[in-house]
Amino acid sequence: MTDEQGIVFRGPGAPLVPEPLRLDPPGPGEVRVRIVASGVCRSDLHVVDGDWERPAGVVLGHEGAGIVEALGPGVPERPADRPAGSGGLRTGDLVVLAWTAPCATCPACRRLEPWLCATPRGGTHRTEPELVRLRRPDGSPVGVYSGVGTHATAQVVDAAAAIAVDPRTPHDVAALIGCAATTGVGAVRWTAGVRAGERVAILGMGGVGLSALLAAIAAGAEVTAVDPVPEKRARARALGAVDAVDPGDDAHLARLGRPFDHVLECIGLASAVEGALRLVRPGGTVTVVGMPPQGVTAAVELYSFVVDGIRLLGSNYGSLVPERDLPEIAADVVTGRLPLGRLIDAHLPLAALPDALAAMRRGEGARRILLPGG
Ligand SMILES: [Zn+2]
Ligand SMILES: [Zn+2]
Repeated sequence: MTDEQGIVFRGPGAPLVPEPLRLDPPGPGEVRVRIVASGVCRSDLHVVDGDWERPAGVVLGHEGAGIVEALGPGVPERPADRPAGSGGLRTGDLVVLAWTAPCATCPACRRLEPWLCATPRGGTHRTEPELVRLRRPDGSPVGVYSGVGTHATAQVVDAAAAIAVDPRTPHDVAALIGCAATTGVGAVRWTAGVRAGERVAILGMGGVGLSALLAAIAAGAEVTAVDPVPEKRARARALGAVDAVDPGDDAHLARLGRPFDHVLECIGLASAVEGALRLVRPGGTVTVVGMPPQGVTAAVELYSFVVDGIRLLGSNYGSLVPERDLPEIAADVVTGRLPLGRLIDAHLPLAALPDALAAMRRGEGARRILLPGG
């Protein structure tokens, strides 16, 4: 058992402060990971603000990277002569933590759609008594948000959620690859299937939208960014967007017309999904990537939707196959093909989570990274 710290969600509106926790050794099929970086994601905000119903008593955070400290019984050790990212784990590996650990046996996993896994390993939030590895000093159990709970100094996770990547990947970017970066990159590569020479519009220039922008540019596409915040439009241009549009600028939108092969909605707003359907060319795709509050609906003008043969896609976790795709994204970071480090605004201590969430509520910047080890 080790003495750790983590930020436990106690219900919407409750204070978010690091508290002392005790971590059990890894059980069969699990690994203990020292968290080296943990991104602050809009999904954290949805939980904290009560937009999504999630159980109280779980350590928050689902976008993280860590160093493997211990392998539990039965976790196959990668031979020393095989590189990280070729499958298996070794103590000392840099791992990206995937917020779903596919079971590999359910119908979705057998279709190679692990993002739809019905029975993820380690359960959903590790609140079942047999899965609890984290306790308060009084012995009361603490769960782990999305199976990884990265706003903590260390965690025990299922080995299928810890994917070894090139150790040269910067730790802060490795954390981003755990959620925002992969959600955006994957939506472009694996959900929409963007190809060289295509025209792409991306709505919302937060961490996910900017990741999608970098992936579309890397694919050889021409990207138009859409965001109401002037600083975010400027950032999109600096990262290679050929145009950046205020969604309130009707004249600019009218000049654009409907030229886009792909439109990606990366905010989770009904109005933005409706706007996306007005930008896509006949036969093009609209991919909804942003996560709305539960219960939100959008209006679709069905006649033109059918006549124009529009394809409307949902993209969950970038249609990711973790052990295949996470090492690939990290490799693209190391070679410079995906400069995801340019999305990071600040590195903060664990205790600064409320400040980072407040900045996100104000719409400031792209990504803030907590460094639980200080
Ligand atoms: Zn996230
Ligand atoms: Zn499954």
